[in-house]
Parts: sequence; structure tokens; C-alpha cells
Amino acid sequence: QDAHRYSGIVEDCCCNFETVDHLNEDVLHPLLHELVRSPFFRYFKVKLWCDCPFWPDDGMCRLRDCNVCECPDSEFPVSFKKPFTRGLPSDDPVCQEGKPEAAVDRAIDAKAFRGWMVVDNPWTSDDETDDAEMTYVNLLLNPERYTGYTGPSARRIWAAIYTENCPKYPSGEICPEKRILYKLISGLHSSISAHIAADYLLDEATNSWGQNLTLMYDRVLKYPDRVGNLYFTFLFVLRAVTKAKDYLEQADYDTGNPVEDLKAQSLMRQLLYNPELQAACPLPFDEAKLWKGQSGPELKQQIQRQFKNISSLMDCVGCEKCRLWGKLQVLGLGTSLKILFSVDNHDSLGQALLLQRNEVIALMNLLHRLSESVRFVHDMGPSVEKMLGHLPAQS
Ligand code: FAD
Repeated sequence: QDAHRYSGIVEDCCCNFETVDHLNEDVLHPLLHELVRSPFFRYFKVKLWCDCPFWPDDGMCRLRDCNVCECPDSEFPVSFKKPFTRGLPSDDPVCQEGKPEAAVDRAIDAKAFRGWMVVDNPWTSDDETDDAEMTYVNLLLNPERYTGYTGPSARRIWAAIYTENCPKYPSGEICPEKRILYKLISGLHSSISAHIAADYLLDEATNSWGQNLTLMYDRVLKYPDRVGNLYFTFLFVLRAVTKAKDYLEQADYDTGNPVEDLKAQSLMRQLLYNPELQAACPLPFDEAKLWKGQSGPELKQQIQRQFKNISSLMDCVGCEKCRLWGKLQVLGLGTSLKILFSVDNHDSLGQALLLQRNEVIALMNLLHRLSESVRFVHDMGPSVEKMLGHLPAQS
């Protein structure tokens, strides 16, 4: 009954759960929550319609805006089957998004990305330098939450991710490098589930939204390793952000709105040079310990290949809004991997860190998602415990 309780050091990290909760509540979440609302961080560039390279039979992602047409009727609640036309071409009723909750709102989407280098991310499959068919999406209009995306399509993606690209490591695996990819993906999965549970369509008839404690328990809190992996992923991304602090501090946050842009820069500085963070958890994750052995470079290449595959799988996600957040968060993880593992400012090549605007946006929005999920886990835990206390004992 108390499997969701957790304490001690987060495995493979340098901080404990209680410290993370405390820092997140007092410092990180408030700053990140403000930061992602700023004009610079709220627009994300994304290719939303693209071929799924793995299941050409799928058909869900091959036509623009045609995301759920191929799903069997039984998969969605009745209200989702109603045609939804806002913002979509009205002369193509067959291929319109079937579920309002799953459609991306493109209302404010044309924002030029100026003054930033255009570089590709070696960890992801999308060519980030190719602007063709890119959409600019306002993330604030498209919150990550329950969309009704479920059934064989969603299961197939997660199954392909876990079985083919990052199988769970055997218990007792002592090599931390071999644990990383699984833990990052599992942590991201926990975070997605936490967002679904925290913002769930409770009553279709009245369109009322709220917390689904049972779902939070069944998918996340019941499994201490999923909670641990969420905290691990949060600390891993936090480390990437703090490692890139020189770059992030000096980056150009200009969007043509001086008041908002200065505010974004100031929030960024408060985060990067936060005395409480530096005192309580100065090194959230220690990447310098990794890749030391003989097989290090080979292992790194293998993980890079697997992560690229996971990134391509995002093109097969059959729900537009899930694909948006899936792509953003995978790019955010890819950016963290790039900062921590692809670039070493002190290596013999002297390779300098170069990030593109979209990577920085993905990185900070991912950190915000994870920070929010850590908060949900922490805050919803007691309510779930209370709920479980009232559940009839299982026979
Ligand atoms: P799933 O969450 O599909 O899990 C499948 C299996 O994976 C489980 O049976 C379990 O064995 C394993 N598993 C579950 N969690 C973990 C974990 N943390 N670590 C390790 N293993 C785990 N739905 C929405 O409503 N909104 C969204 O924004 C959204 N975004 C998505 C983004 C992506 C990239 C994908 C692939 C799916 C998304 N979905 C979203 C769908 C959602 O994640 C679930 O697949 C869906 O709700 C069905 O859930 P389920 O209970 O079948 O279990």
C-alpha cells in the first residue's frame, strides 16, 4: 500500500528525493513556470505531418492532419468521433482530427526564429535544419494532458521503444551507462502519464477536467522504479541545463518584446545561478563518471543509434497533440544528451557547444514538464494514499 513512498538518494544521481522535492517546490518550478510562458519559450517549431518509417501500413501519419482516421471506431469515446473543424480545412471531412482534445491549435503560429545558428542535433532523427513543412506552435494553447489516444497504436509505440530500443536492464546491472537510456525513457513515460492523470477528462457530457487519482496510482505511483526514473530524468536534464549555463546565459532571447525578453533572461539567470540549488544539489548528475571503460565509445554510439530510432518513432504517434509533446520532449532529451555527452569543452578537439533556438526551447520546456510531474507525484501522493485507504481490500 505504501509502494509510492520514496526516500534516499535518487539512483545514479547525487541528490535525494526530499531535496529534489524541496528545491522543486521552492525554486525550480516557480521559475520554470514563469519562463515557459515568455514569448521566446512558448513557440516551438515542429514538423507535425510526416511519414511513419516503421509501419507503412499504419496510414495515420501519412496525410497532413489525418491522424486518427484509421483507428477502429471502438477506440474512442463517442464525443471524440464528432467532426472537429476549427482551424482545419473544411473541405476534407474524412481526414480531420477526430478528437478536439488531440488536435493542435495553430492559431498563433508564425514566428520567425532570428539570430540563432542552424545546427542539427546528432541524437535525433528529424533534420532540424530543414524548415520545410515546419509549423510554429504556441505551446500555451496546447497543454499536455489527456487526449484519448490509447489502444493498439499507442501500445505499439511504447512496445517498440522498450523492446527494440531500450530494453529494461537486468536487475543487478552495475554499469550505469547501460541503465541510462531506459531510465530516461521510463522517466519521460512517467511524466507523460502524470500529465494525463493531472489533467483528465472526467466527464465528457459536461466537459469537466480534473485529476484522475486512480490513473496516477495505476500508471506511476504503484511502481517505485517509475517514480525513481522520473526523478532521475529530471536531475539529468537539470544537470544538462546547468552544464550549458555559460551558453544559456549569453543566448539571444530577443523576440521583439524588450520587457518580456529581459524578463526571460532574468528568469534564466535566476535559475542557472540559483544559490539554493548550488548549495543543496550542486551536481544533479555526474556525467564525468561515464564512458570511462574500454567499451565506452562503442556503447555511446549504440545509445545514440537507439535514441535516434526512438526519435523517429515519434512520427508514428497517431495523435497530433501527443506527437507535438512527444517530439518536443524527445528533442529536449536529445539536447541534454548532446550537452552532456557529445560536446566536451575541454577535450582535445576543443569542440564548443552550439545549440539552436529550438533545442533551447525544447530543453527548457522539457525541464518544466518534468518539474511539474515531480510536483504532481509529490502533491497527489497523499490524496492517492487516502483514496487507497478507502478502497475495499482486495480479496
Ligand atoms: P501505456 O502508458 O501505454 O504503457 C504501455 C506499457 O508500458 C505498460 O503496460 C507498462 O508495461 C509500460 N510502462 C508504462 N509506464 C512506464 C514507465 N514509466 N516506465 C517503464 N514502463 C512503463 N496520451 C494522452 O492522453 N496525452 C498525451 O499527451 C499523450 N502523449 C503520448 C506521447 C507518446 C510519445 C506516446 C507514445 C503516447 C502518448 N499518449 C498520450 C498515450 C499514453 O502514453 C498511453 O499510451 C495511453 O494512455 C494508454 O495507456 P496504457 O494504460 O495502455 O499504458
